[in-house]
Amino acid sequence: MIRIESVTKRYPDGTVAVDQLSLDIPDGSITVLVGPSGCGKTTTLRMINRMVEPSEGRILLDGQDVQAQPVNTLRRSMGYVIQNAGLFQHRTIVDNVATVPRMLGWDKARARKRAMELMERVGLDAGLARRYPYQLSGGQQQRVGVARALAADPPVLLMDEPFSAVDPIVRKGLQAELLRIQAELGKTIVFVTHDIDEAIKIGNMVAVLRTGGRLAQFAPPDELLSH
Ligand code: ADP
Ligand code: ADP
Repeated sequence: MIRIESVTKRYPDGTVAVDQLSLDIPDGSITVLVGPSGCGKTTTLRMINRMVEPSEGRILLDGQDVQAQPVNTLRRSMGYVIQNAGLFQHRTIVDNVATVPRMLGWDKARARKRAMELMERVGLDAGLARRYPYQLSGGQQQRVGVARALAADPPVLLMDEPFSAVDPIVRKGLQAELLRIQAELGKTIVFVTHDIDEAIKIGNMVAVLRTGGRLAQFAPPDELLSH
């Protein structure tokens, strides 16, 4: 479980991005952080993998303070997916997905075999393996981003507006794919979006944040008070 305990983030310029936030993110859930632009969603996500350090409070992963863990070990246990996939433009699709296994020391052939399996899992045609990111559609690139994040089989996936830049029909497909992957792999997924409909559709738990970085509600989608 990921436990966020009374966490506040104040940036050096004085902006309070997150204000006394407490959340228990259950294992094997999709927990969605939702709220308007600037309410502290990305900051919260980045504190989980220590791209941002809290000013106050702490975050526990399976009972251990994330700040007590080496950053590399921590990040290996957490896949990270962002809005425009963040792919390496000069690497082919198969090599983008194989990046993490390669960093873990797998030989090239084994890492590419793993990458091909992952491409299949996220619904990418094997024929795309040797293409470059610019040769793929936005939706395909996001699938590559998800495959890459799954490559080291991390127990946790952090997803920051992963489907927001694709058109609504493609987004529906990606949401369905994520639910299928979740059902098969049982990851703990923390998913950031500004779209309440998306939050309700894919979340097992929904944390509604409001401007100023405060928690307004934390409940399963069918128990959310109207907004
Ligand atoms: P969201 O993801 O909900 O849009 P963010 O976590 O990105 O919100 O930002 C929360 C608040 O913190 C915003 O007011 C934003 O402008 C501010 N902020 C984000 N990053 C920084 C930074 N590096 N320095 C100063 N303020 C920041
Ligand atoms: P390099 O050592 O520069 O990666 P390779 O001859 O091994 O050169 O591969 C050339 C390109 O072909 C690679 O960048 C990779 O994208 C693609 N490729 C190689 N092997 C495979 C494979 N088993 N499956 C899919 N694509 C592959």
